Amino acid sequence: MGEDDNEAGETMQVCPVCGSTDLYYEAGGVEGLYHCKYCGYIGSFVVDANEEMAKLIRKEYDSGATDIQS
Ligand SMILES: [Zn+2]
Repeated sequence: MGEDDNEAGETMQVCPVCGSTDLYYEAGGVEGLYHCKYCGYIGSFVVDANEEMAKLIRKEYDSGATDIQS
């Protein structure tokens, strides 16, 4: 913690929709659900991504946000 070496391919859990790391895990029922603070995604699936992947997801979300709405 507090060290600046995130080049080693560390992964983090990010939202599969927008790539945000602002996720809340909410326990409830048999399985919990993740809530994304950024885009409002709610689901049991999140992506293990490194920083590069998270940026790509975010970029795609930002450029195609209007297509994802249904
Ligand atoms: Zn999201």
